[in-house]
Amino acid sequence: MSVIGCGYLGAVHAAAMTSIGHDVVGIDVDEPKIQALAAGKAPFFEPGLPELLTEGVASGRLRFTTDMSAAAEATVHFIGVGTPQQKDGYAADLTYVNAAVDALIPHLKPGDIVAGKSTVPVGTAAILAERVAATGATLVWNPEFLREGWAVQDTISPDRLVAGVPSGAQGERAADVLREVYHTAIATDTPFIVTDYATAELVKVAANAFLATKISFINAMAEIAEVTGADVTELADAIGHDARIGRRFLGAGIGFGGGCLPKDIRAFSARAEELGRGESVAFLREVDAINLRRRDRAVQLVVDALDGDVYEKKIAVLGAAFKPHSDDIRDSPALDVAVKLRGLGADVVVTDPEAIENARSRHPQLTYAERDEALTGAHAVVVVTEWDEYRRQLSPAHASSLTAGRIVVDGRNCLDAPAWRAAGWTYFGMGRP
Ligand code: NAD
Repeated sequence: MSVIGCGYLGAVHAAAMTSIGHDVVGIDVDEPKIQALAAGKAPFFEPGLPELLTEGVASGRLRFTTDMSAAAEATVHFIGVGTPQQKDGYAADLTYVNAAVDALIPHLKPGDIVAGKSTVPVGTAAILAERVAATGATLVWNPEFLREGWAVQDTISPDRLVAGVPSGAQGERAADVLREVYHTAIATDTPFIVTDYATAELVKVAANAFLATKISFINAMAEIAEVTGADVTELADAIGHDARIGRRFLGAGIGFGGGCLPKDIRAFSARAEELGRGESVAFLREVDAINLRRRDRAVQLVVDALDGDVYEKKIAVLGAAFKPHSDDIRDSPALDVAVKLRGLGADVVVTDPEAIENARSRHPQLTYAERDEALTGAHAVVVVTEWDEYRRQLSPAHASSLTAGRIVVDGRNCLDAPAWRAAGWTYFGMGRP
């Protein structure tokens, strides 16, 4: 098989497919990325990926190249290129998907399967299908649900597999090919859902819209808690006991970010508008707005805690990645908070176990340091990514031995608040008294 686009999704997909027995060529236009992958090195942080890459490359069944003609040897082709937000609007930018398909088409043979994994606006597959069909190949839409940080496990043993296929015998055959591709997961009873293109595309954006809504729901409750003296974490525990609601994704804090949820809900809104159904998902604008407000709230907590003025105050920002177990800083709430504090004149020092390099290239104006150096002399500490390095391994006593002040803003409600208070810290959570 070929995997076109070797980023967070594609590189893991290529390595994971090799590990379950397939012969894979990964193709990308990014020369340095391909060089690293071909040498068996992960170009980004993802637990378990380095091991799979090393084994795969050593076996000779996993290769990487920038030469699209290598796809000619494959019979199944996965498209995993990026679909970022357009620069001047909310819609998804399909430039990369279109370019990848354009480049792949001359190498397709009758009987080949092209499986789209990128997250695309509903209706995209139907347009691409005709062009693919002209070569005698068949397009399927096979959306990806992996979570960064758990991407290897999620790729090998997903919660479910979805295949959007054309109607008739061609679609049935394409579904059978995907069953062969994912034989190990299917053998362990992973649901394999065969549907049409539009449903497959919508499953992905609907899932992300639901998750984003759940996070913004609890963050809206945090806003109400803040004006009433209630504690949103106790509220979340209490409503989470209801099996219909569930506790997962009810962590109030500075909200979601990353390369998926924010741009996916915006692209969904834009697509719904195009379809004349903007009102159906108008709530996603509110979901987005609530999410972005929480970043400002965290900044305000720091400002208020420092008596209204952060100018030239040293602030240790613990976290840069949009979530732990990843070095991904795309639309990271953590970095947004850091940038905003710096904009107010604070002497911000950012730390992160994995994401400093990415953060530095995106925001070179910020200062970066190892954790303890960041804490040294700080007037306030802000936790913005819930890495274990901060929530479990940083004791308030150790922090006290380094900082100048005793103010901690827990942007992820992940610290042991009583322990920090007992050690003499003034603790501020999100939506908590
Ligand atoms: P990414 O930016 O990490 O990777 C995209 C890769 O595509 C890059 O390496 C880029 O160089 C390559 N590329 C661009 N144009 C190309 C072309 N014409 N030919 C070959 N390669 C090309 O993005 P990502 O996070 O891997 O996301 C890819 C897609 O998967 C997006 O649609 C995203 O929404 C979706 N997705 C991502 C995740 C995730 O957790 N990252 C999860 C599910 C779905």
